[in-house]
Amino acid sequence: MSFEPLISDFYGFEDKLSDREKETITALRAFVDAEVRPLLTDHWARAEFFPRSVVDGLAALGVFGMLWEETRRFDNSAVFRGWVALELARADASLATLVGMQNGLVMGSIGVAGSSEQRSKWLPRFASGELLGAFGLTEPLSGSDSAQGLRTTAARDGDGWVLNGAKRWIGNGTVSDVTVIWAKSAEDGQVKGFLVPTSAPGYTARKIENKQSLRIVQNADITLEDVRVPESHRLQNANSFRETAAVLRLTRADVAWAAVGNSIGAYEAAVAYAGERIQFGKAIGGHQLIQDLLARSLGNITASIALVTRVSEMLDEGTQRDEHASLAKAFTTSRMRETVAWCRELFGGNGILLDYDVARYFADAEAIYSYEGTREMNSLIVGRSITGTNAFA
Ligand SMILES: Cc1cc2nc3c(=O)[nH]c(=O)nc-3n(C[C@H](O)[C@H](O)[C@H](O)COP(=O)(O)OP(=O)(O)OC[C@H]3O[C@@H](n4cnc5c(N)ncnc54)[C@H](O)[C@@H]3O)c2cc1C
Repeated sequence: MSFEPLISDFYGFEDKLSDREKETITALRAFVDAEVRPLLTDHWARAEFFPRSVVDGLAALGVFGMLWEETRRFDNSAVFRGWVALELARADASLATLVGMQNGLVMGSIGVAGSSEQRSKWLPRFASGELLGAFGLTEPLSGSDSAQGLRTTAARDGDGWVLNGAKRWIGNGTVSDVTVIWAKSAEDGQVKGFLVPTSAPGYTARKIENKQSLRIVQNADITLEDVRVPESHRLQNANSFRETAAVLRLTRADVAWAAVGNSIGAYEAAVAYAGERIQFGKAIGGHQLIQDLLARSLGNITASIALVTRVSEMLDEGTQRDEHASLAKAFTTSRMRETVAWCRELFGGNGILLDYDVARYFADAEAIYSYEGTREMNSLIVGRSITGTNAFA
């Protein structure tokens, strides 16, 4: 199977990938087309999680273990990991979220804040898909202000810890085997991270119903009532919110890539529809105003690919700072919102039917826009860098 450049990669940015990276993208695309796309409409409509075969297939392709030397198949670049996020979201944003959660937030927490023993013990089990993870930071009363507002507590008890509190919006929360819980230590008031088996007594996860975006992802309200974990489950190098922020920094650019992928999914559906739908005696793609919608969408996509490519290169070069990833997330998610709206508009009435895919991209854009830092939060991070003034509070 040879590598096929995307029609939506107008300036050919995929050429930056190595042959080995292109091979992996090609295999991933073939798997997603054959095994995942046929499920999407039905699973989205029923708000049902992917079948186990999808998790196993992704694990077999190596996309859960791309970040760390303990688990990665080859020495890949951040740009490659971005293209993986884009390629997954191009099919479905819930799929990209599943991988972003496992490879990024969960394994990222262990890679950034775990000891070398914890890394060798846990990372391979997540990479193989034996364990599915979730990342529990947000709480019912603390979203954007989680750096200072966490209320979940961790109290030292003999050679272990007792956790109490509540978490909200936790993706994969009802299907995970282990959830990374961020809690404030009763001892020193600092945020610490814990690997909490979801079978632990006192741990309860309840699916958040009636979600109208990313419906395949199962988001949960989690309660922790005297949940005991041994000291060996505390991430040994997580001593303050600094480490939590380091995990978010590692993964935020990938969300920007997923936003571009979600835009591309809508755009490619729109290009196909423009060629098929006949009005006034010709395919609607032949009407000037429809071409304008497509050209504007492609402009957004192309500018966004250029931006995320550079921000990922900066990660590999060691020059990426918080504000760089934040600008990428704020900019690409804003462009995504415009793009999916233009693409949905191009479908007329069919644009609100799940059967034509574009409605799914349109709805899923809203979750990507808000999670892992809203546009406002990311703008404030950029604004602080521009002006030197912290305007959060
Ligand atoms: C689908 C989905 C999946 C998610 N998955 C996870 C997950 O797996 N794990 C996890 O821990 N969390 C997860 N989240 C939570 C997500 O990160 C939060 O929703 C997000 O950080 C925003 O918090 P909030 O929803 O509480 O909004 P709030 O913080 O209440 O914000 C409400 C509004 O006020 C704005 N605002 C807040 N403060 C300011 C300010 N100082 N200045 C200007 N504007 C401000 C915000 O930008 C927003 O527009 C998920 C959320 C969603 C929707």
